Parts: sequence; structure tokens; C-alpha cells
Amino acid sequence: MNVNLLDLKAQNGALEPELQEAFMRVLRSGHFILGPEVDRFERALAEFTGAKHALGVSSGTDAILVALMALGVGPGDEVLCPSFTFFATAGCVARVGATPVFVDSCPVCFNLDLRDAARRMTPRTKAIIPVHLFGQAAEMEGVLGLARHHGLRVIEDAAQAMGATYHGKQVGTLGDFGTISFFPTKNLGALGDAGALLTNDTALFERAKILRMHGMDPKYYHQVVGGNFRLDALQAAMLSVKLPHFNGYTAARRRNAALYTERLAQLADVEVARAEDCGCATSGAGEPNARIILPVAYPANGHIWNQYTLRVTGAGRRDAMRAYLTSRGIGSEIYYPLPLHEQACFASLGYKPEDFPWAHRLAGEVISLPIYPEIPAEQIEQVCAVIADFLRA
Ligand SMILES: *Cc1c(COP(=O)(O)O)cnc(C)c1O
Repeated sequence: MNVNLLDLKAQNGALEPELQEAFMRVLRSGHFILGPEVDRFERALAEFTGAKHALGVSSGTDAILVALMALGVGPGDEVLCPSFTFFATAGCVARVGATPVFVDSCPVCFNLDLRDAARRMTPRTKAIIPVHLFGQAAEMEGVLGLARHHGLRVIEDAAQAMGATYHGKQVGTLGDFGTISFFPTKNLGALGDAGALLTNDTALFERAKILRMHGMDPKYYHQVVGGNFRLDALQAAMLSVKLPHFNGYTAARRRNAALYTERLAQLADVEVARAEDCGCATSGAGEPNARIILPVAYPANGHIWNQYTLRVTGAGRRDAMRAYLTSRGIGSEIYYPLPLHEQACFASLGYKPEDFPWAHRLAGEVISLPIYPEIPAEQIEQVCAVIADFLRA
């Protein structure tokens, strides 16, 4: 039987009557952009995350863009962000005219290496964007300490990590802004593009809200140049149906991750990454000497497992494993095959592949397995059996 990387129909199908009802409510209201549905979802999201304010926007990418605009980041400014992340993190920095300054990643938690971030600081550094990659919090105490010490603004890219916690606090609520994506494959998926900003700072919230609608305040009078970053009422209504189920989705993802780890760790040459090897804030990463290294959730973190991403070591081995999985009908994905410092669009920044050794190496080693909440346990067993076959082959 084939195992799909994702099955969005399973989750939305289970809620079909409620989603239909919400759709009809919006259809009959005739109110399609912002309005009461968006207000209601923003209140529910603020309550869920513990943020003082939540602002619904058009996508997770636009959330980052609006955050940068609200913080006044622009030409001449440098913004620290990981090289090993989705493009949007750095793309938004470039779009406001600032310069992304890349930072290497930790091979254990996959998040930005704080010692490297400290090294790349200059008098022009204006902000830092930690990304909570794959659903696990970055080392925020270190990020916030660095930011305080150098007067930097902090935007948490929590696109993959809504609901994840760091020492009991929700990610996205620790910096100046947190940004969330409701892209259909994220842990809370809309039925199209959608995103949100979180902040505890009322002045920043007001600024972001004005920027969301062309910098207009009052109507047709523009104090600043903003854009159309509005959230559709329809997406807000769909998200309001799904939000009450979010903790159930997270519990299922955690069960799935635990099952993968339990089964795969039994195989010869497979080891779980060691939290104590995390190089982000401490002395540096050690390395298990294994062919496959499994992901680990740190004790202080509530991991929400947007991805279950393992490392396959040895030249060409990851690609060989992916081809093997594909040949046996098993879906997988590479998040991400080329780090941002090696992307053609950033060539003018003058980085060399080896400038970020871990980002470069991780791009060749990582592979993400199917972990969506509704995947049957037997399918996870099947994936693990195929990986066992691959290691024997
Ligand atoms: C998905 C994602 C985004 C962008 O979100 P969209 O809603 O697709 O615009 C930004 N950053 C990271 C890390 C992401 O995974």
C-alpha cells in the first residue's frame, strides 16, 4: 500500500458539516474581507497562544513582511536569520530593502546557532529572525539575551511551530512579533493562504494593523506605505472551525513521532540525536556515529512535530534512501535541499557554500517522513519496515 506524505482530505473531511456551515454563513453574510469572522478568529488565536494581540493577514510570508515594515527595517539594515530555513524568512528581509545576514544551524535542533549569530553581528544589525524549524523552539533565552545586549528587534518565524512551547511559553509570544502560517500543510491549515502576527506590544500591533490595509488611517488618508495584507473572512471562518481541534492534532503528531523513534531506534546504525550535543548555546555539537540520526525534542520544549526530519549520513545516502522509499510507494520530502546562502537570488551577497558548514551539510542529509495527524499507525510501521530494508540492502 502507498503511504502519502500528507492527506489533507482526512482532516478536513472529518469536519465537513461544520466547515460547510461556516462557508454558508460567510456566503450569506456578503462580508468577505476582514470583518466579524476575522475579528472572532483573531480573538480566539490570541487566547490560544497567550499573546496580547493577534492580527490575521494574507499569509505567513506577509506576516514576516508586515513585522519587518512595522519595526522600520529597511535599506542599510542587516537582519540575522538562519540559512537553513524556508525561503520566506530571508526573502522578506530582501523585499524591504535590508540585507539578510545568514547564520549557521545546529545539527541537533536544526535551529540557528547562537554563537555564529553573535559572530556575524555588526553595527548595522537591526533585527534577528529565529525560526522554530520543524515545530521545535529555537534557543530563545539566548536569542533574547543577544537582542537585549545589542538592541536588536526579534521576529520569531513560528510558521511551522504554532502551539510549540519554550519553557512553558508559546513560541511567537517571546519576541517583538511572532509570525504564523496557515498554509494547508502547517499544523493549523486553512483552505488556502492565510497567516497571522502575534505581539504583546500594543503600539506595534496598531502599526501592523494599519500596514495591513495600505497604511490607511483614516480611510483614504495614508500616513505610511503599506500593502494589501488582509485575511479573507472565509479563511478565518474555516480556521475558527479547526482551532478547537488543534490540541488533538498535536497529540496525534506526538504519538506518531514517538512511534517512529521507538521503531527506528531499534535498528542497528540508527541513533537518536542527543539533546546535550546541541551546539546552539553551549560548547558545541558532538556527533553520534550512526547512519541515521533521529530527531529529538528537548526537555524544555513542547515540540509540535510539523515535520519528523531525520539525518542520513554518508555521501549520497540520503538521496539513495529517498529513491528507495519512492520505489516502495512511500512519500517523503526534503526540507530543504539548498540552503539560502547558496541560492542564485542571493549570489550578490558573496557567500561560499562552506561559509555555513552545517546548513550546507544538513541540506544533503535531511529527509522528512509522513507524520500528519491522521496517518494510520500501520502506515508508520510500514515506513519503518522499508527503512529497515534499506539499511540491510
Ligand atoms: C511556510 C513558511 C513560511 C511562509 O508561510 P506562507 O503562509 O506559505 O507564506 C515562512 N517561514 C517558514 C519557516 C515556513 O515554513
